[in-house]
Amino acid sequence: MSKGTIGVTSDNIFPVIKKFLYSDHEIFLRELISNAVDATQKLRTLSSVGEVKGDLGDTRVRVIIDKSKKTLTVSDHGIGMTAEEVDKYINQIAFSGAEEFVNKYKDKTEAIIGHFGLGFYSAFMVSDKVEIFSLSYKDEAKAVHWSCSGETTYEMEDTIKAERGTDIVLHINSEFEQYLEDATIEGLLHKYCQFLPVEIAFGKKKEWKDGKQVETDEENIINDTTPAWTRKPAELKDEDYKAFYRKLYPMQMDEPLFWIHLNVDYPFHLTGILYFPRIKNNLDIQRNKIQLYCNQVFVTDEVENIVPQYLTLLHGVIDSPDIPLNVSRSYLQSDNNVKKISSHITKKVADKLSELYKNDKADFEKKWNDIRLFIQYGMLTDEKFYERAIGFAQFKNIDGEYYNLEAYKEKIKANQTDKDGNLIALYTQNADSNYTHIERARAKGYDVLLMDGELDVHAMSQLEQKNDKLRFVRIDSDVLENLIRKDEQKKDDYTDEQKEGIRKAFESILPTDQKLNYYVTFEAAADDALPVFLTQNEFMRRMKEMSQHQQGISFYGEMPDQYNLVINTSHPLIQDLIAKMTSEEVEEEVEKPQDDKQKEENAEPVKETVRKTVWTLSGQDERLHQLTDIALLASGQLKGEALAKFVNRSIQLL
Ligand code: ADP
Repeated sequence: MSKGTIGVTSDNIFPVIKKFLYSDHEIFLRELISNAVDATQKLRTLSSVGEVKGDLGDTRVRVIIDKSKKTLTVSDHGIGMTAEEVDKYINQIAFSGAEEFVNKYKDKTEAIIGHFGLGFYSAFMVSDKVEIFSLSYKDEAKAVHWSCSGETTYEMEDTIKAERGTDIVLHINSEFEQYLEDATIEGLLHKYCQFLPVEIAFGKKKEWKDGKQVETDEENIINDTTPAWTRKPAELKDEDYKAFYRKLYPMQMDEPLFWIHLNVDYPFHLTGILYFPRIKNNLDIQRNKIQLYCNQVFVTDEVENIVPQYLTLLHGVIDSPDIPLNVSRSYLQSDNNVKKISSHITKKVADKLSELYKNDKADFEKKWNDIRLFIQYGMLTDEKFYERAIGFAQFKNIDGEYYNLEAYKEKIKANQTDKDGNLIALYTQNADSNYTHIERARAKGYDVLLMDGELDVHAMSQLEQKNDKLRFVRIDSDVLENLIRKDEQKKDDYTDEQKEGIRKAFESILPTDQKLNYYVTFEAAADDALPVFLTQNEFMRRMKEMSQHQQGISFYGEMPDQYNLVINTSHPLIQDLIAKMTSEEVEEEVEKPQDDKQKEENAEPVKETVRKTVWTLSGQDERLHQLTDIALLASGQLKGEALAKFVNRSIQLL
């Protein structure tokens, strides 16, 4: 027997492991099983080149719990280790600057483990004592027994071991007895080892017999050694991809819309399958995340730093040995491989979408509703993706026709270019409540887009920034004639005083609501337009809508909704109202306007008397009410008591 000191330059690595790595202690199982799988694969490689002769026999990795001895064993039939190798790989953990590093990454378990190759030592997070029993594949090798109780000293001696390979025996610490429970271990195996390339056995398969679950003689293999992403796309049918999707996300009811099988050899290695789920709304709730693997070992499902954020809306698996998994997350973003991988995935995703669009436009249109959120999010947050996606991003009009931007511009160019050369795309967010406006637009041969998506407002603003002279305006944001101005504005013959009188008359009967503001404005609209109607300023409304997703401009969100109650002075009913007004001359005392010099001297204001014509409208309240209600009704804003009153008043008028 030999005793020795573990070659750690820091005083004692174990307190560090136990204390700082506490939070993530479950990864010990992943580390030990990865080592066992590596040892098995090394053996297979040696066998394939003829360095190991004969049949390899049983190569399963086994995880065994012994409750009475309170041990957990990971056992493999891999290459094993000689005493020299145990000394070299286990005893001499070569690292420098340990203390400095450990202090820096105190709370980043994976960083410490990866940096020092402490995979094996993570066993000490949950154990009082760890033993290794190993027999190397090498001829004449003697079996070795190593044990260590968490101090910096170990013991090593020859032992008897019949079969080639390594058993790592963990004497589980009393605080961590959950790792002696079948259910805990099963859960961890499922999480980390589900797709490992070597069979992992844990316990026996169970079956139902006489209403009870009983163990069979067959070993329970917990993993699929050739998951879909490791196979050639040509070998896989749609059903295989869907079956793998269900395996990844058993709780997901919807089938994926389509998928991309990634397979990159150069300049880095990357395989995987990305699925496009139906994304209906709500950017935040994404239960099913992309899973990141390293050579089929599960690493994390927090891939935010590895792929652009919008790609995290996708589902599936990415497997790359080239992503430095064991470094801090902030470091990841600046890593060159990670950057390349990220832009490669972006390109692949865009290529796939573009291909789907070109191959079958009708099918792409059918899927559009389900993928638009993803595509728009990508376009808004990733310049490169915007450039690729602008060719296939769709615009849907209220007749259910789809266009890409170029085609849509072409469609509306002739009829919807205003006198200043701006191309005006009209849209609605709700065809029902904009019905009157839409009908008028149709009568003029205008097209109306349906923009009811969660990110449509943001998307439109982006398109305006990127496309000079393209403007989106909601169909009810102004009088139709003003939305697409083709000639100079029509004027009416009424004086400001007359309009002031009409404004006051309407204001006196307008509904008062803290969340709604109505401003009375005048417009010589067409005489076939309604006598009074509501419009809503495009800019203000859009800011308000955008503020729901964006921080920093939330003050828009708190403002009341503002509507213009537009009085159409071209309409005979309004002309009749104005004709019914009476006027009187009044004298009013006002402050005399000051010239610059007076202002500079801060002179006392001088009052003067002016004569004014004041117009009033009386005895018309019923008509004013009726006109206002019609405007509200046409915009879907007449509700409850006001609606009931309108109905009664209408009946009385009849
Ligand atoms: P890493 O796996 O990152 O190299 P570890 O501390 O987990 O770091 O293991 C150190 C070395 O010990 C491995 O590289 C391998 O050579 C050897 N080793 C560990 N476990 C086994 C095993 N089950 N069979 C054979 N060799 C092993």
